[in-house]
Amino acid sequence: MLDQIRIVMIQTTHPGNIGAVARAMKNMGLNDLCIVSPKRFPDPEADARASGATDILESARVVASLDEALEDCHFVVGTSARGRHIPWPITSPREMASVAASLQPGKRMAILFGREDRGLTNDELHRCHHHVHIPTNPDFSSLNVAAAVQVIAYELRVASIESASVTAPQWGTDWDIDLADAREVELMFEHLEKTLVQVEFLDPNNPRQLMTRLRRLFLRSVPDKVEINVMRGFLTAINKTVASFSSKQTLSNDQHPPSDKEKPHV
Ligand code: SAH
Repeated sequence: MLDQIRIVMIQTTHPGNIGAVARAMKNMGLNDLCIVSPKRFPDPEADARASGATDILESARVVASLDEALEDCHFVVGTSARGRHIPWPITSPREMASVAASLQPGKRMAILFGREDRGLTNDELHRCHHHVHIPTNPDFSSLNVAAAVQVIAYELRVASIESASVTAPQWGTDWDIDLADAREVELMFEHLEKTLVQVEFLDPNNPRQLMTRLRRLFLRSVPDKVEINVMRGFLTAINKTVASFSSKQTLSNDQHPPSDKEKPHV
């Protein structure tokens, strides 16, 4: 199970923190580290703080975007020191670890850790199925990023030891279809957004929180591949119907151009 977990650090500023994360990971038996656009890495300070976990640093992948970091991931969790404007399903580190322990074999979970000064952006948090908050003193809630990785990694280790004897399937039953991966889910959201603009339900000049709320709705259900395909088929059917409807409209408008009297008031 620990091999199914990817730790993703986003735009980390201090290389020492990356080294400390590698150490925390190796202590707890995690090995998949991905770093998105770090300020300084590789760096001697990272090696020093890793104190012997340099193999994790050497095999760490450095990528330029979150999309690359989430490649092959089916479940995405964002860690956050504070609540956000639009609340998202929040789990404790322990609950998150039990979800990880019940992942289907071959499926991967990514856990995102934010910048030292600003944490994760809203867009990054809106890519996640769940958010995890480590219960801290509400008046002083922000942990050092490597300390946060340590707590999460410890819970994963405990859950992996416990799940070695009992493996409860996710949702209490064996699922018939593979979970959709992060890329498939993202393409569905792009398609949904375009379709909502096409049917004029979403105003691109004033999108408000519509896509955020729809993301939350879909991500709450952790869709599988067939469910995502059904959504894509449904959206394509809408696209075709709207396109053929508007080409018929254009034809009839061409034949009978509306007089000034018939034009809608705008
Ligand atoms: N000032 C930032 C905190 C950044 S701490 C903010 O308010 O968001 C750097 C990172 O450590 C966070 O992005 C998160 O990944 C992790 N972290 C720190 N404290 C945490 C907590 N209490 N629960 C979960 N993650 C936490």
